Amino acid sequence: MKWSLVIPCYNEEVNVRLMRDTCQDCFRGQVESYELIFVNDGSRDNTWRELKKLLQDSECRIKLVNFSRNFGKEAAMYAGLQQAEGDYVTLIDADLQQRPEVALQMLRILEEQPEADCVAAYQEHRLEGPVLTFFKKCFYRIINRISDVDFYNGASDFRTLRRSVVDAILSMGEYYRFSKGIFSWVGFETVFMPYTPEARNAGNSSWSFRKLFRYAIDGIIAFTTAPLRIATGLGTLMAGLALLYLVIVVIQKLTVGIDIPGYPTLVGLILLIGGIQLITLGIIGEYIGRMYIQEKHRPIYIAKEVVTGQPQKRQEMNK
Ligand code: UDP
Ligand code: MG
Repeated sequence: MKWSLVIPCYNEEVNVRLMRDTCQDCFRGQVESYELIFVNDGSRDNTWRELKKLLQDSECRIKLVNFSRNFGKEAAMYAGLQQAEGDYVTLIDADLQQRPEVALQMLRILEEQPEADCVAAYQEHRLEGPVLTFFKKCFYRIINRISDVDFYNGASDFRTLRRSVVDAILSMGEYYRFSKGIFSWVGFETVFMPYTPEARNAGNSSWSFRKLFRYAIDGIIAFTTAPLRIATGLGTLMAGLALLYLVIVVIQKLTVGIDIPGYPTLVGLILLIGGIQLITLGIIGEYIGRMYIQEKHRPIYIAKEVVTGQPQKRQEMNK
C-alpha cells in the first residue's frame, strides 16, 4: 500500500461520504494505491452507519475503526496511524476544511524530495476571529519560550508523513497526546506548506474556547516542566522578601520601636502568600495528576470494531 489517509470523525454523518467521493475524484488516476482510514470517535449521530455504507461502493480500500466512546481527536489520529499500512500517511479532517488536492500536493513533495520526511500545512491567514488569533499567538509565544521543542504557529495536524516518522510517533505511547509537540519532538526534516482552509462543509467545529484552553494547558504540561521551575522561583523570591522584612522589623523594634500595628499589610501579605502557595500546589497537582493517569497505563483508546473493505469498483489508472 502506497498511501494511507487517516480521517478522524466526530459527528460527521453528512461529511464522510462527500469526503470519500472528493478523495476518489481527486486521486483517480493519480495514485496507484491508497486507503482511507476513518476513525469514528464515538460520534453521537449516524456517522458509523454512514461509514459502513462506504464499504459497499468504494474504489479504494476503506478501513473503519469504531471507538467505544469519544476519546478525542488525538486518540483518533493515533488509532488511525496504527492502522495505516502506507509508505506515506496523511492526517486530514473529515469536514473538508482540508482539501484532498492539498494532500496530494504534499504526497508529491515527499516523493520528489527524498530529504524531506514530513510535509505540514500551515494556515497563512487564520479563519478565526481576532480574539482567538490573539490567544493562539500568545500560546505559541509562551510555549516556545518555556519549552525546548519548537512549535510552529499556524501549523495544523494536516500533515503527510513518511513511514519512518509514523513509526517514531507510534513509539510515543503517552496518554496525554499533544500532536503539535509530538511532531516536533520526534524531529525529522519538515517542509512547511502554506494553505488556506475552506469553510466547514457541514456541522459545527467541536472546539469551544474552554476545550482549546484545556488543550493549551495539556500542551504546555506535556512538553515542559518550566511551570514547576517558575513556582520554585516564585517561592524562593517570596521567602527571601519575607526574611528581609523580618530583619527590618527586628531592627525597627530594637531601634525606634513599632507604634502602629500594620493589620492591612499583614492581611494582604497572608492572602498574597496563601494565593501563591495554592497556585504552586495547583501546578504541582497538574503534573502529579497526569503522572497518576499515565501510571495506570490505560489504553489511549478502546476500539469496538475494526472493519476493512476491499475496493468494490475498479480503480482505473491513466498514468
Ligand atoms: N474530531 C474527532 N474527535 C473529537 C473532535 C473532533 O475525531 O473529539 C475530528 C472531527 O470530526 C474533524 C477533526 O477532528 O474531522 C477536526 O475537528 P473540528 O472540525 O471540530 O475542528 P476545527 O476544524 O475547528 O479545528
Ligand atoms: Mg474542522
